[in-house]
Amino acid sequence: MADSMVKFMSGEYVPLEMHKVRVVQKLTLLPVEERLKSIEGAGFNTFLLQNKDVFLDMLTDSGTNAMSDQQIASMMVADDAYAGSASFTRLQEAITEVFNKKYFLPVHQGRAAEHIISQVYVRKDNVVPMNFHFTTTKAHIELAGGKVNELFTDEALKIKSSVPFKGNLDIAKLKNLIAKIGKEKIPYIRMEAGTNLIGGQPFSVQNMRDVRKVAQEYGIPIVLDVSLIGENIYFVKLREEEFKNKSVKEIMYALCDLADIIYFSSRKVSCTRGGGIAVNSYDHYLAMRDMVPLFEGFLTYGGMSVREIEAMAVGLRETLDLDVISHSPQFIKFLVDRLDGKGVPVVTPAGGLGCHLDAKGFLPHVSQLEYPAGALASALFIISGIRGMERGTISMDRDAQGNDVPSELELLRLALPRRVFTLSQIKFVEDRVTWLYQNRQIIGGLKFVEEPKVLRFFVGRLAPTTDWTKKLVAKFKQDFGDNL
Ligand SMILES: *Cc1c(COP(=O)(O)O)cnc(C)c1O
Repeated sequence: MADSMVKFMSGEYVPLEMHKVRVVQKLTLLPVEERLKSIEGAGFNTFLLQNKDVFLDMLTDSGTNAMSDQQIASMMVADDAYAGSASFTRLQEAITEVFNKKYFLPVHQGRAAEHIISQVYVRKDNVVPMNFHFTTTKAHIELAGGKVNELFTDEALKIKSSVPFKGNLDIAKLKNLIAKIGKEKIPYIRMEAGTNLIGGQPFSVQNMRDVRKVAQEYGIPIVLDVSLIGENIYFVKLREEEFKNKSVKEIMYALCDLADIIYFSSRKVSCTRGGGIAVNSYDHYLAMRDMVPLFEGFLTYGGMSVREIEAMAVGLRETLDLDVISHSPQFIKFLVDRLDGKGVPVVTPAGGLGCHLDAKGFLPHVSQLEYPAGALASALFIISGIRGMERGTISMDRDAQGNDVPSELELLRLALPRRVFTLSQIKFVEDRVTWLYQNRQIIGGLKFVEEPKVLRFFVGRLAPTTDWTKKLVAKFKQDFGDNL
């Protein structure tokens, strides 16, 4: 194995933590009745839970990855200056070393980079082809008057799959699109590493080369979102024969060299806050430069604190360390493979962002109009204190006629931020999810009682359609007694 899985006597490969814990945060696991009260208070929406009531927070990896001792130490030597901070010079050097790009524009987080790129390059009625959209990406392209066109492969949305690169862009669809609408309408092609919304599924270097070939033929630039590039690189090293013996840095350069513009959310890629855009062409740099002082802050901080800037430089270099980028994918694989082995419906193969439970397979008796993924999120919290994120019909807003739009995929995402959880905590997740699956008949649906018109999943409030939550608590107590 080219990574830190260890072989146990049983023959099983188990992920081994290549770090030790030196700063800890205390957790509480409330009794089951209090967890029920807590989710009732949150309107059966895990976004509205108070973190103090949560045992394992698996909502997201955004801003929740663990920082290293070196990152914390670097914050102590941050150079506070409005202009020309030495901290920024150090970050710029890290950008060049890690991504092989010469020019850098700092921004306050990933969506700010998307704002600048789409305002500068996207015109009314433009179309941006991409392997998969991300929520903020789509919103910013549409704000600029453009449209998103997703060209994922047929395999991307399959729950059960053994395809190694579900994040690939379908080249035939790309050629068809260009033939149909013409290259003039396409300001750039966007590739997202570790496609977030389909579970951190990677694309291959070969796919990126194929995209480049088409892009070059028509003179269309490529924008690469590297927010989740670390985990994508881990999968390339593991699954793409040509790169088996290449270093993380070599794979990073292979991918970034094929893109004209790269950008990132450092909430993900470097375990800090902030973001940035990096390019090699001075023309691209100039085209975007003046947006930074206008919307973000002066060119040597871009809305970030100098402490974050220092920690970001260190965090980006740590992204080149295989032990760092392999942690989440290995823990996810451990959890996904074990659940899959017990027949629990999960998305396979395991991706780099989290374990995704297939709520349609889990709760076939709950209609999509009663939000199975949302019900599953509430049920899991009640029986375990684990907080996941609904990625199904609740996450879709209603259509113009006010009808629900059943989501193609109805998922409960259990995110695994880097180096945050231990293996016994993951075994706890496995155990409670399995118990829930065995008792899935008890779980019923949800209905809205307070429903915002846009992005309703953030703050909408729901209630159970029957008294199933009480039955679930009763069965839990029958099986576990007063044990947590
Ligand atoms: C999170 C994310 C973004 C947006 O970044 P923010 O820092 O949350 O604004 C963009 N792209 C991808 C792939 C992401 O995961």
